[in-house]
Amino acid sequence: MRVLDSYLSGSWKSGSAAPATVVNPATEAPLASVAPARELADAVGFGRDRGGPALRALSFRQRGALLADLAKLLHGHREALLDLSVASGGNTRGDAKFDVDGGLGVLAAYAELAETLPESAWLLEGDAAVLVRTSKVRAQHLLVPRHGLAVHINAFNFPAWGMLGKAAVALLAGMPVLAKPATSTSALAHRIAELIVDAKLLPPGAFQLLMGPAQDLLDHLGPQDVVAFTGGAETAARLRQHPAVLRHGLRLNVEADSLNAVVLGPDLAEGTLLWDLALRDATIELTQKTGQKCTATRRLLIPEAILPAFRDALAERLADTASKTGDPASKAVKMGPLSTAQQLADARSGVARLQQHARIVHGDPQRHAFLDVPAGKGFFLEPILLEADPARAADPHASFHALEVFGPVATLLPYDGSASAAARIVALGGGSLVSTVYSDDREFVAHAVTDIGPQLGRLVLNDEKSAAGAFSPGGVFPQANHGGPGRAGGGAELGGRLGLELYMQRLAVQGGASQLARLLGSKA
Ligand code: NAP
Repeated sequence: MRVLDSYLSGSWKSGSAAPATVVNPATEAPLASVAPARELADAVGFGRDRGGPALRALSFRQRGALLADLAKLLHGHREALLDLSVASGGNTRGDAKFDVDGGLGVLAAYAELAETLPESAWLLEGDAAVLVRTSKVRAQHLLVPRHGLAVHINAFNFPAWGMLGKAAVALLAGMPVLAKPATSTSALAHRIAELIVDAKLLPPGAFQLLMGPAQDLLDHLGPQDVVAFTGGAETAARLRQHPAVLRHGLRLNVEADSLNAVVLGPDLAEGTLLWDLALRDATIELTQKTGQKCTATRRLLIPEAILPAFRDALAERLADTASKTGDPASKAVKMGPLSTAQQLADARSGVARLQQHARIVHGDPQRHAFLDVPAGKGFFLEPILLEADPARAADPHASFHALEVFGPVATLLPYDGSASAAARIVALGGGSLVSTVYSDDREFVAHAVTDIGPQLGRLVLNDEKSAAGAFSPGGVFPQANHGGPGRAGGGAELGGRLGLELYMQRLAVQGGASQLARLLGSKA
């Protein structure tokens, strides 16, 4: 079986520890093995000392041109990458595109952003500030690239988007990258890394790949390094307590769990475009990537009067997907398996916990026969829809406000249609990546911005007028902030130019107005 090596300190390194096997989640056929390499201290030093200076010697625009080259290179291998995504991630072709094209999209977006950035080695933030009215001394804020390594620890659900999206931002900011994909779906990340390394587009040390567990990687990190982590809240909690974070001020960005809610407004009526959009989005957000999206909808707040009609229409759509759930290698299949046996076990036990406070209105968590799959094989779960009683929906102790079931699972929550009740219920999720409001009621929507907004990293507003061209809320655009407060980790990634801040140091340069103007080009 093929062994997937790490690319560290300028060469491919085989691991010496016990290998893990990665499998096709639809058939359970072994695909490759991953044996973790050691020598992580050397790799950290190599990235910092070779990759960092080489990247910083380039301007933003030159680094942006490298991103454009990478996007072009990988686009040339897109079909093969999609095939590998289907085989190694349980993705339908559409899901594979969501991941692979998403990654290419971030590279392209940051390459485009680079064209708007200055030739200087820093980014100015606003104009120089007057400190004392009678003095010529000014303070100019700017961002300079950090002199460390950007370590990217990614979740299993987006091996391409996760790795490329994070790398695009760090490389443009001027930081070398060490990417660590989640082991179970790392075959795709490994292939992308192979293409990047073989093409020799990036300077030595600018991009490294660690396969398998992180081992003692964080022990070697210090104050100029950055860790961007995407994954579960428990892993995040462990990383937050690491001495490198606590003692050395290692910058740690966390993208974690999220109980994303959608809110149907009190005015939403059957037969409108907005109603159809809400239904379409709910179906997509439950079933795309088999619900394994950090931005997937987990809670649907629906005015009591319209809940039965919405539930029945949604259940009908989910039944169609359920009948086409199976091996994504088959063209007839619309939804694939979960990524691992552990994910399936966790999702089933999660549904059982949700059932303590809500009842299943669609789907069978124990179903075991699926389309074009050998009996008993694969990690499949059909879409599961639950519904809470009106008296339960706002219960702060209810499991649907505490537990992210990472699969095609969501709960319908009836509410009275008031903005205050909606905000209270959304807040019980403890902070989310995204919420979506479907309403033409201006007052309701304004309340959503002020009262639901603080719980979120992104708020999607849909009204009748924009319904025809609206995107489903789980899609993350590189121009918009990705991250959320509280349970979602408190992180911030992407967001166009804002995303660069993670990899740069904010510096106030204080000096005479004319010197700052000469040196930095600042205006005062
Ligand atoms: P996970 O188990 O926390 O793993 C995430 C990553 O952390 C993997 O690469 C894993 O490596 C690594 N890891 C595990 N223990 C570590 C440690 N002690 N030190 C350093 N790295 C460690 O999460 P997952 O199961 O892959 O992903 C599912 C979760 O990710 C869900 O909760 C989902 O909500 C969240 N997620 C969030 C976002 C977001 O943007 N907010 C996006 C996607 C997913 P191994 O695989 O080698 O163990």
